[in-house]
Amino acid sequence: MLYTASLIFYYGAMGSSKSANALMANFNHHEVGKIPLLCKPRTDTRDGERIITSRIGLSAPCVYLEEVVEYPEERLRQYDCIIVDEAQFATEEQIDFLADVVDFWNITVICYGLRADFQNHLFPGSARLLAVADKIQEIKTACWCGKKATCNARYNENGIVRNGEQVMLGGNDSYIALCRKHFKLGMLYDPEKS
Ligand SMILES: [Zn+2]
Repeated sequence: MLYTASLIFYYGAMGSSKSANALMANFNHHEVGKIPLLCKPRTDTRDGERIITSRIGLSAPCVYLEEVVEYPEERLRQYDCIIVDEAQFATEEQIDFLADVVDFWNITVICYGLRADFQNHLFPGSARLLAVADKIQEIKTACWCGKKATCNARYNENGIVRNGEQVMLGGNDSYIALCRKHFKLGMLYDPEKS
């Protein structure tokens, strides 16, 4: 029976340890003698150049997804799987390329990313993955109230930010994962504990 590759999308809100999961998947493949290719879209520059870091301290070198889509077939076939962090920033064309890698070259692709932006609209990479992935699984994290966090609130010193560009690179704004109700109310923290 031939191993059948698949396109997998793990999505979660900010702070759901997606990068840590991507790094652990990378580590686990190496542990069993497989060769994974770790990559991320170039648009994500928060972590600097060609490195994926998680907030719990793990990090590993990576290449850019923009480079991977230019690899010739014989080079990509050297890898047992492709792991993509920050997959929400991928373009529809890049996700379709990754789906082709799964279907025609039998290489599994595991993507990690946010589902929606700070205005609750899908990112382009996430929208495509939700449409075409073989397996879609949520990585859960909690709002300060204990409910599941599904919204990524952007905030600054004045509170929640409702307007702006989808991707804020180099900005001073930060993000926090909230449940939908507290996102709507713009409540970034427990008022009882302030
Ligand atoms: Zn809440």
